[in-house]
Amino acid sequence: MSKWQFTKGLHDLGNGCWAYLQPDGSWGWSNAGIIADGEASLLVDTLFDLKYTKEMLDAMRASIPASEKIGILVNTHADGDHTFGNQLVEGARIIATEGTVADFARFDPAVLDQIMKDPAKYGRAGDFMAECFRPFEFSDIVLTPPTETFKDRMTIKVGDKTVELIEVGPSHSLGDALIHVPDDKVIYTGDILFSEGTPIAWYGPIARWIDVCNLVLEMDVETIVAGHGPISTKQDVRRMRDYLMDITEKARPFYEQGIDFLDAAYKIDLGEYRDWNDAERVIVTLRTLYDDFEGAAERPVHPPIPFFEHMKDMREHLGKPPVHCDFCGHEH
Ligand SMILES: [Zn+2]
Ligand SMILES: [Zn+2]
Repeated sequence: MSKWQFTKGLHDLGNGCWAYLQPDGSWGWSNAGIIADGEASLLVDTLFDLKYTKEMLDAMRASIPASEKIGILVNTHADGDHTFGNQLVEGARIIATEGTVADFARFDPAVLDQIMKDPAKYGRAGDFMAECFRPFEFSDIVLTPPTETFKDRMTIKVGDKTVELIEVGPSHSLGDALIHVPDDKVIYTGDILFSEGTPIAWYGPIARWIDVCNLVLEMDVETIVAGHGPISTKQDVRRMRDYLMDITEKARPFYEQGIDFLDAAYKIDLGEYRDWNDAERVIVTLRTLYDDFEGAAERPVHPPIPFFEHMKDMREHLGKPPVHCDFCGHEH
């Protein structure tokens, strides 16, 4: 059993490294973190809306004096559940990869806001997006992209502490980055790791994502803060890597037989992974795997919204309850 509780809020990892967790890690419930030394601090990601990001920043300020004025914000990737709160970190340098900057407008908060207000207009895709994102409020979000980019690797000093940024995208998204604190054997993975939940491969190649998992497994790290789910260990990275390898192996024969990716999604036996949260994401991952198998010089770009209709169908097919079915939409 993990020594860490999977409870909402700030978790002290020791030596000035912290994780901020949002159970249950399903759609939109992302994690973040902060690294502090002396008066300096580096925030890893913001959350999906202003209310939750403010709540997190308040919790940090109550426990970590150096978080009063955050000097650096690093976005692990562009997805809104890791960036939509950026505007609240006023005056900070915002650092990410070039891929993250290029990917930044993929989920426009204004479009999400429209969908939440009138999901019927978007059909079944709208219904499922409204279900996935109903705990969140998108109306006041101003996209706040990185102010600085890096390539390959970048070393930052946070007080006396060395922090390494490592570019590993495209894999989960176009611009994924890992944030490594070597002296403390801590790594923040963003959505390179979904812990105890199903990963979703918006970009791929999946083989590259598997390589990134192997890279993390070879690193001298002990405490792994996933993009979603509990504080993790290498065992969790191994499990998620094995999922990606398993789906790849199972998808290939269907691709070779000329079976459409959607039909293949229903034919694949998810085995033990069927019980993971959000197993319907296999739809998006299969589309990406098919693009990998195709190996076209120019990778096709798929608009994200239509996938939500297919994922709703798959979720029902798997007999899963609605997303966030324990979330009643108001506070007690
Ligand atoms: Zn993501
Ligand atoms: Zn995420």
